Amino acid sequence: MIRLTDIKLPLDHAEGAIEAAIRAKLGLGKGGLLGFTVFRRGHDARKRGNILLIYTLDVKVADEAGLLKRYADDKHVQPSPDTSYKFVAQAPADLAQRPIVIGLGPCGLFAGLLLAQMGYRPIILDRGKAVRERTVDTWGLWRKRKLEPESNVQFGEGGAGTFSDGKLYSQISDPLHHGRKVLTEFVKAGAPEEIMYVSKPHIGTFRLVTMVESMRETIEALGGEIRFTQRVDDVLVDTAEDGSRQLRGVTLASGEQLLSDHVVLAVGHSARDTFFMLHDRGVYMEAKPFSIGFRVEHPQSIIDQARFGPQAGHALLGAADYKLVHHCKNGRSVYSFCMCPGGTVVAAASEPERVVTNGMSQYSRNERNANAAIVVGIEPEDFAAFDDSGSPLAGIALQRDLESRAYELGGRDYSAPAQLVGDFVKGTPSTDFGSVQPSYKPGVRLTDLASVLPGYAIDAIREALPAFDRQIKGFGMHDAILTGVETRTSSPVRIRRNEAYQSLNTRGLFPAGEGAGYAGGILSAAVDGIRVAEAVARSINGISPIG
Ligand code: FAD
Repeated sequence: MIRLTDIKLPLDHAEGAIEAAIRAKLGLGKGGLLGFTVFRRGHDARKRGNILLIYTLDVKVADEAGLLKRYADDKHVQPSPDTSYKFVAQAPADLAQRPIVIGLGPCGLFAGLLLAQMGYRPIILDRGKAVRERTVDTWGLWRKRKLEPESNVQFGEGGAGTFSDGKLYSQISDPLHHGRKVLTEFVKAGAPEEIMYVSKPHIGTFRLVTMVESMRETIEALGGEIRFTQRVDDVLVDTAEDGSRQLRGVTLASGEQLLSDHVVLAVGHSARDTFFMLHDRGVYMEAKPFSIGFRVEHPQSIIDQARFGPQAGHALLGAADYKLVHHCKNGRSVYSFCMCPGGTVVAAASEPERVVTNGMSQYSRNERNANAAIVVGIEPEDFAAFDDSGSPLAGIALQRDLESRAYELGGRDYSAPAQLVGDFVKGTPSTDFGSVQPSYKPGVRLTDLASVLPGYAIDAIREALPAFDRQIKGFGMHDAILTGVETRTSSPVRIRRNEAYQSLNTRGLFPAGEGAGYAGGILSAAVDGIRVAEAVARSINGISPIG
């Protein structure tokens, strides 16, 4: 097959236009073209009056070698790469010990799936409940202001991204095409086929629920075991005379011990108690930068109009997204994060008496508002003072402080504090909503958000919002709504690992995914799960960690 890239066609091109473009590009007459598939379809909306579709195509031709020779200097005509997934190992017939995976978010799900597919029959533990029961608990906070600390937006089957927009793109380097394996497995589990070729695929929350269930069934059918409401509260570590450490297993909240020399740690960024436990047990970790801020909500129509102009509403374009960044006078950077077109702002706390925001949407993305986090990057030196013991966990102390402030300012009933953008920029408290109604459930309380984040973050966001208005007309509209606080943008710690994907000082512990600081988002967490499963397989089979 030959891969053609950068094939540009008008948004409303005729059905046969792709074939005509291939023939024109490769100088093929009537014959020679045996077939083609669309590998990727994106769009270029820089000229709103002339939005173009951009295709990457895999083309089957009669004379492949001849054409590749003829276009040897054209970077847009290349052999199609082999993106099929190849297992690195198979479990030995006499597998002595089953690997354990802690956490059934995207990282643990893919680590578990891959280990099961390779025959290692993993035991997968999650502190939360199976996804249907978890959905009831999560809605309990949104509808009845009742938070379940072990079953919520962060904890339970499917992990943090289950109640999400289900965006499936990432900027990670992926030379082995593991992202393709993730998308292929998602489609097998019920995701729409189009995620294989649209440039910014998303699934939406309803489908994610059924997909996660289907993947659970696959893992179990392959001999894996999945246990819910089984929180890991401790790890068993042997320390040799020379100080080297080997993980031997885990202790569950019930007191039960499970022994294994291979444990994948895929606990996500909200497993604060687990981070403290691992730190107490001497597992090496470092503080890491993350971001704090608010969710902003605008009418989706404003974003569509600004992005697509007369083509707003076109079926192939869908609801428009955005990505914004502003470098502030005080040296901080403010950027948009986890933008959810046509979605809702959700209550994402996992600890009592704290308020955290995030965003989600359905596949159709047809809710009235667009939302995104507007956050300021912070460094370990910004939060070191929150824990004077010098602990790498100081970022958690800052997160907790901000989330508690938001709970207080929201009225202590899980309402979130909110303010109109116009009032926030002027520094005056909000008292009435304008044209934008907030979507956050169980509700918001209008106030002055200035006290909920550190002064440097407030100053930076105040400066950034009008600057964003210059990029998206209407972004700074007075009635747009800010809801706080956004603190779980990424993990506040990194649990470092070596080239064998094992903890720097605890052999047998495989830190993985977002919680360990190795992923940010569903796709990258899932890809990291695959990489770590491969590392576990190599380690069990005694083969070199470098593939
Ligand atoms: P998680 O998904 O956090 O999974 C960790 C799992 O570990 C949880 O199920 C938890 O219950 C379990 N666990 C924790 N501690 C223990 C313990 N001690 N014992 C046993 N189990 C434990 N990303 C995107 O790419 N696109 C999006 O559209 C998107 N939207 C989001 C919307 C929301 C509301 C949220 C909260 C997140 C969103 N994200 C999105 C981020 C994405 O969900 C995460 O990046 C991703 O889920 C991280 O995967 P993970 O497997 O590393 O961790």
